[in-house]
Amino acid sequence: TSFAHFSFDEQLMHQIRKSEYTQPTPIQCQGVPIALSGRDMIGIAKTGSGKTAAFIWPMLVHIMDQKELEQGEGPIAVIVCPTRELCQQIHAECKRFGKAYSLRSVAVYGGGSMWEQSKALQEGAEIVVCTPGRLIDHVKKKATSLQRVTYLVFDEADRMFDMGFEYQVRSIASHVRPDRQTLLFSATFRKKIERLARDILIDPIRVVQ
Ligand code: AMP
Repeated sequence: TSFAHFSFDEQLMHQIRKSEYTQPTPIQCQGVPIALSGRDMIGIAKTGSGKTAAFIWPMLVHIMDQKELEQGEGPIAVIVCPTRELCQQIHAECKRFGKAYSLRSVAVYGGGSMWEQSKALQEGAEIVVCTPGRLIDHVKKKATSLQRVTYLVFDEADRMFDMGFEYQVRSIASHVRPDRQTLLFSATFRKKIERLARDILIDPIRVVQ
C-alpha cells in the first residue's frame, strides 16, 4: 500500500510528504481505511508502530467533514492517553498534520497549569489531547464541553488501566454522545481491555499490528 491509496486530499498529502515518510506502516495500512469508513476500531499496537498517525489522519478528515455540519463550541476530537509525555507527543503530531487545515490542538495533562490550559481551551480548539483526570477537571469547571465530540480515541488503554484510570476512562466515554466514532489502542488485549471495548465501542473492527 502507498499513501495514495488513502485518497487524502492535497493539503494533507503535502504535510505527509514533508514528514518524509516513504510508505505507510502496517497499522496504518490496515487501520486508516477502517477509521476513514467511520467504524469503531480496536488497534493492538505498540509505540513505534506508527499508530499515532493511524488515528490522526482519519481524525483530520473526520473533523473537516464534521465542521461543515456542526457549528458550536468545544472540540470535535478528543484523544485520551496516560501520560504528560505522550500527550505532548500526540499534540505535536496533531499540530504538524493539522496545519493542513489550520486546525487547533490543545494539550491538557496533570501537572500542567490549570489556568493556562483553561485559557487555551476557551480560546477554542477542534482537537483536545488529554490525560483522563485532567480532562474531567476541566469539564467540571466548564472550561470546555464534550457535547460536540464525535471522534474519541483512547491511546495506550492498558497503561491507563495500570495507572488506575479505568474509572476516568469509562466516565469520559459515558459523557460523549453515543453517535460518536471510538478508537481504542492498547499494546495488549487482556480481559479488562476486552471488557472495556465491549462496553464503549460499537461493533468494532480489530486490527493487530
Ligand atoms: P508511534 O508509534 O505513533 O509513536 O510512531 C513512532 C514514530 O514513527 C514517530 O516518530 C512517527 O513520526 C514515525 N512514523 C509514523 N508513521 C510513519 C511512516 N509511515 N513512516 C515512517 N515513520 C513513521
